[in-house]
Order: sequence, then structure tokens, then C-alpha cells
Amino acid sequence: MPPLSDAIHYLLHPDELRWILQWQMTYRPLYRRDETRETPNVKKCFAYLEKTSRSFSTLIQELHPELRMPICLFYLIARGLDTIEDDTSIPAKKKELTLRDFHSNLETDGWHFTENRPQEKDRALLLDFDCVIQEFKLQKPVYKDIIRDIIRRMGHAMADYCLRAESDGPGIDTRDDYDEYCYYAAGVVGEGLTDMFLEAKFYRPPPALQDGRRLQVSMGLFLQKTNIIRDIKEDADDGRRFWPRAVWSKYVHDFEDLLDPEHRLAALNCGSEMVLDALEHVPECLSYLTGVQEQSAFNFCAIPQCMAIATLTLCFRNPDVFVRNVKITKSEACRLMMESTRDLQTVCDVFKRYIRVIRRKNASHDPNFLKIITACDKIETFIESNFPLEIAKSIMPKGSCGTNAFGV
Ligand code: MG
Repeated sequence: MPPLSDAIHYLLHPDELRWILQWQMTYRPLYRRDETRETPNVKKCFAYLEKTSRSFSTLIQELHPELRMPICLFYLIARGLDTIEDDTSIPAKKKELTLRDFHSNLETDGWHFTENRPQEKDRALLLDFDCVIQEFKLQKPVYKDIIRDIIRRMGHAMADYCLRAESDGPGIDTRDDYDEYCYYAAGVVGEGLTDMFLEAKFYRPPPALQDGRRLQVSMGLFLQKTNIIRDIKEDADDGRRFWPRAVWSKYVHDFEDLLDPEHRLAALNCGSEMVLDALEHVPECLSYLTGVQEQSAFNFCAIPQCMAIATLTLCFRNPDVFVRNVKITKSEACRLMMESTRDLQTVCDVFKRYIRVIRRKNASHDPNFLKIITACDKIETFIESNFPLEIAKSIMPKGSCGTNAFGV
């Protein structure tokens, strides 16, 4: 039974309930796991996936069987690596070596990690890591190589940050550092996933592209930057800061001032510049989606992107971001899932809808006002010129494989 407060809320806002019910009644995943054919170890890996991922667990479980397990393992391995990085109780030298060496343990029987502090939330995964190793060993060599290479690069980048934080203190300095951090935290994951999609023939890079790699990197950067904007309060409370000094120092004297109600207007303007920076990735994200050829892979890519533009819009000029963790409503999430599992045209419509909201919230006294307008214009022009309505009508039918919405 939902709490009474929820019931009253939906009585007063019946349109919100509509999306939740519609989602529950009409959504049917393309693929489901068949647990009767899974080994106990496979079940155990999925149980860890459910425990460690709020947002990606369902998306991964509904992927085409060709990539379901490789991507589940990719997630668990990256989560394991991150659990070592996040644990501030591990001495820097020990942490550095473990991060750099992590990729070389992926096929070592019985390898596990016991040195996380008890309160580290995904500690159990690393204690029980042999279940991941045993399943990893069974995967196709090409997927294993992709995963191992990405984990090696992430591990080295995390180790470098760990050393830098030791000598220079926490925080990110320039905008280049910020992009580089987001690249190693999420952009490389986009590269690994794209390599797996290419191998499975689920993705074909859009033609006539100067640098195809930029698109997959932008996919990760857009998600990561949105999370960094949304999580400023929570991260600051944990002693972490990801908003680059080059940006916040234009608005406040000390980073902590961003959270001080006395500096709220400056913080909001600073937030605008952070949102502006994230919005610049949107055309490349939409461009990437044109290359995704298989519907479950399309859903896997499109749902997080739509959730991100909704979250970014919610954070834009929203003072609550500096007070608490803001979240889109369940109803909005259900609506977005309905829409982003249809086709590219619907995803473009979602983006246009949120861009209109950003335009409405834009404030003329904000120093970023004109730049925000330009960024919104660019996104709308990109959608109108790349996805004219008549082409977009030839939407890929649900479950189609090997065809693409735009014949590219
Ligand atoms: Mg981390």
C-alpha cells in the first residue's frame, strides 16, 4: 500500500497518476531474463546488480541477451573499482596501487578485496568478487578485452586523481580538468559500451562525422555533469567538490558560499553556467542515438539521456539544489520511460519540451542569460535540421533489429 500522503497527492494531481498507471499497464520489456535457465552464479551477479544500481539494473536486465551479461559484469566491475576509489579510509598508497592493478585481477580465481571500511555501501560486492570473476571468465574474449581495457584506463585515471588530491587537496581546478574528470568517470564507459554495441552490430556510427568518438564521450559526459550539478549539496556534505574552481570562483569567494543562503543569487547564476556547460553536449547525444540500431540498446541509451535533460531542467535556477537533493517525480520518470522507449522522434520531442522549460526559467539578470538562449537555439535548430518530421515518421518498429529510424 502506498502511504496515505501519496494517495492524497495523486487525488489532487490525477494527471500524475495517469503516467504511473499507463506505464504499469502498458510497458512490456522486449527481453526478460529467464531465471529457470540461469546458473546460481549468474543469479548472484544479477542480485548484486540490483543491490548496487538504482538506475541501471532494470535497463541492463532488459537488454538483448547478447549483451545483457557482458554489460552487467561491466557495471559490477566498474562499481567495484569505484568502491575502492570512494573509500577515504584506504591509505593513499594502497589505494593507488589497488586501482592501477584492478584490471589484472579480473580472471584471478578467488580474488577479492577486504579492506573497505564497514560503512562502504557496496563493500559486500568486493568481498564476494569471485562470483564476478567466474562469470567474467565465461564471456567472449572480445567483450572481456573491451571491459579490461576500460577498467585499466579508469583505474589509472582514478589513481592519478587520488595522488593529486593528496598533494593539492580535493576539488577540480579548470574546466579542462572538469571535462577530463567526467571523461574518466563516465566518458570512457560510453566508449566501452559503444565498442560492445559495435561488436554486437547494435550500433553504426552516423556517417559524415569528423570524430565519431566525440559522440559516445558526450553521452557519458552529459549524464555525469547532470549528476554533478544535482548532487552539489550531498557531495559537499561528504567533503567532495566537483564544480570546477574556474567556474564557481567567478560567483563566490569560497566554494562553501554556494551553499550559504546569503549567496543564493550568486549560487543560482553559477548553477546556470554549469547547466549551460552540460547543455552543450546535447546535440552530440542526439546524434549518437541516430546510430543505435537495436531497440533494447536504444532504450538503454535513450532512457538515461531523457532522465538527464529532465533533471538538468529541474536543477536550472532552482534554489533547492543548494539545500537538498532534488529529484524528478515518479510520474515524470514513468512518462519519460514511456516516451524514450518509443523512437528517436519522441526522444527529440522530449528534449524540445524541456528546452522550452529552460527558456521559461531563464532570467534576464543572470550573466549567462544570452548564452543559455544560444544553447537552446542550437539544440532546437539541430533537432529541426537533422530530424525533419517526414523522415522521422519512418520510425523503427518496436523489436526491430538491424534497421535504423533514419536509414543511416
Ligand atoms: Mg568515485
